[in-house]
Amino acid sequence: MGISRWIPRGEGESAPDEVSEAVVEVPGWSELERQVAECTACELHRSRTRTVFGVGDRAARWMIVGEAPGAEEDRRGEPFVGRSGKLLDAMLLALGLARKDVYIANILKCRPPENRDPAPEEALCCAPYLRSQMALLKPGIIVAVGLVAAQRLLDTKLPLARLRGQIHRYGDTGIPLVVTYHPAYLLRAPLQKKKAWQDLLLARSVLTES
Ligand code: SF4
Repeated sequence: MGISRWIPRGEGESAPDEVSEAVVEVPGWSELERQVAECTACELHRSRTRTVFGVGDRAARWMIVGEAPGAEEDRRGEPFVGRSGKLLDAMLLALGLARKDVYIANILKCRPPENRDPAPEEALCCAPYLRSQMALLKPGIIVAVGLVAAQRLLDTKLPLARLRGQIHRYGDTGIPLVVTYHPAYLLRAPLQKKKAWQDLLLARSVLTES
């Protein structure tokens, strides 16, 4: 059975004059997963091998949000696998968390060809799925991983360096959100791992103080 609850507006969407909130029927997890698996709402459905819905504990306090599936994720149907996924796992482990203890999803559920950045219209098209996942999960903290995820979730064009190191709020939900580097970037720039660790500690402090 679906639940009815408040959902934030999509990035870049403006509110109608007469209301400031949208009440949207959010399907349950199974129905939402089925909808994503069958989605043809944007052109990316033509080139995907499979959709990448999200994985992890559906009652987790941590929600990790990345950009989009890569080639390996597209093959396996799971976000953050391969070398980036291993590094993410290691980062989580340093916090005392296993992959199964958090919930991991992406802005896009289908792989953009050649791993290009998501087009704005693709991200907008896919946003209701992520918002529904957030509404079902009700995380205590969202960690936006990488520039694309951070800019989409915060509806901003500011660079990552300006978005890190502070606690944002996701839309009108009030859910705290912290920005950090994408593991793929950290593999290329390992000296930045210290900053990523600081970001994760900031995220953890939100949960321990709440
Ligand atoms: S990227 Fe999202 S909106 Fe586009 S086809 Fe895949 S699931 Fe649908």
